[in-house]
Amino acid sequence: MSSPPLAGGVTGPDGLRPLLATVLDALAEGAAARGGPLPDGGPEAVEQWVGKAVDDVLPEQGQGAEEALRTLVALMAAGAADPADPLCAAHLHAPPLAVAAAADLAASALNPSMDSWDQAPAASVLEDLVTRALAAEVYDSGGDALTTTGGTESNQLALLLARELLGPVQVLAGANAHHSLHRAAWLLGLPEPVTIPAPAGLLDPAALDEALTELPGPKLVIATAGTTDAGLIDPLDEIADLCAAHGARLHIDAAYGGGLLFSRTHRGKLRGLERAHTVTLDLHKLGWQPVAAGFLAVRDPEDLRPLGFRADYLNAEDDTEAGLPDLLGRSLRTTRRPDILKTAVTWRALGRQGLGELVDQVCALAQEFADAIEAHDGFELYDRPALSTVLFRPRTATDDDLASVRRELLTEGRAVLGRARLDGRLWLKATLLNPYTSSGELAALLHLVERHLVEPVEGHTPR
Ligand SMILES: *Cc1c(COP(=O)(O)O)cnc(C)c1O
Repeated sequence: MSSPPLAGGVTGPDGLRPLLATVLDALAEGAAARGGPLPDGGPEAVEQWVGKAVDDVLPEQGQGAEEALRTLVALMAAGAADPADPLCAAHLHAPPLAVAAAADLAASALNPSMDSWDQAPAASVLEDLVTRALAAEVYDSGGDALTTTGGTESNQLALLLARELLGPVQVLAGANAHHSLHRAAWLLGLPEPVTIPAPAGLLDPAALDEALTELPGPKLVIATAGTTDAGLIDPLDEIADLCAAHGARLHIDAAYGGGLLFSRTHRGKLRGLERAHTVTLDLHKLGWQPVAAGFLAVRDPEDLRPLGFRADYLNAEDDTEAGLPDLLGRSLRTTRRPDILKTAVTWRALGRQGLGELVDQVCALAQEFADAIEAHDGFELYDRPALSTVLFRPRTATDDDLASVRRELLTEGRAVLGRARLDGRLWLKATLLNPYTSSGELAALLHLVERHLVEPVEGHTPR
């Protein structure tokens, strides 16, 4: 076989162009073969046909780039749970914009690594511009932001910074907070977080006040702007008042709700966000980026100091003194993708207004879906949506019925709905992140659930 071409350099695009044509054809072919939000048949069927198509993942003799791309890209697409399908609405799993995916290709081709300036000259400047601009969306005073692999890493960093600045802090998090905070506390050797009750899905300020009064030592309060289960926004201003009164540090996990910053209509729901010392943001949710596009914004850039580190081959002191930017303190990772390129391209292409419109559209879809549920005798709505998540359950179904309807829809490849246990009951969850979902598609989703409850399907019925 001839030497495989490289992606970069002046001739890189010539090597890439024919392969890209193959990739695009295979994506289209796979999506058409799937013909729905996910493959039908459930885990066993998928394991079987993938295993059959890929009988030897590392063959002795290569099959060539064209064949490999055609086969495996088509296979991935045919077997995808595709967030671009309106009936794929379980998780905070956004359909990426084409412009962002195209930019991500350039990031892969150029492959800058963000751990030292001599691997990423322009990329590091662009990262600085994007992270500062994002921080300025949160903090009028400016602030700074780091890129992360997502909300999980951002939350972990927030706890780490609090620990480094204050000592072994006691974390206080609502019962509605993301599970990653518990893992972060465990990983960082912090005391087990104190759970503050969150009746009706929102952190209870009175209970927080009480806990802050009783607990000794330095404290870090976690509030959530856009809970993973219900998409609700904690009373941020009130929580910030309590933190100020008790001298506690405040982290707001806005992995989901942070996207509202771009919307004129909904931005006001985040009032109080700027009072947090640190804020988690995740543009692979309400930002329509391919994974990964996480950020941690900090109000005081000095708070990032504990992350500084010297490694002679990456940021020798004399290099830094001679003016080479020191990037190592911008992450706990070493080799790091320029994940800001896709975000920078998306922002330039759509502007704040274009992004805000996408946010407004998914929020409007959630209101419309909630209206349809309220208007339907057979269904109960958990709460009016604050973001784009709608929780609902059939009035007469048991939790077990509901769980099995969700699994049936999955294994038949008809719809991907989530589940959430709130106030002691199980709810079906639709997380609407596809701005182009139509009213008809929302109605179809509700109808699918209804039909499955009325006529429980025996065994497996292929789509
Ligand atoms: C999604 C989410 C996270 C985790 O983010 P990842 O990008 O999946 O790591 C954390 N907190 C909240 C509130 C989230 O919704």
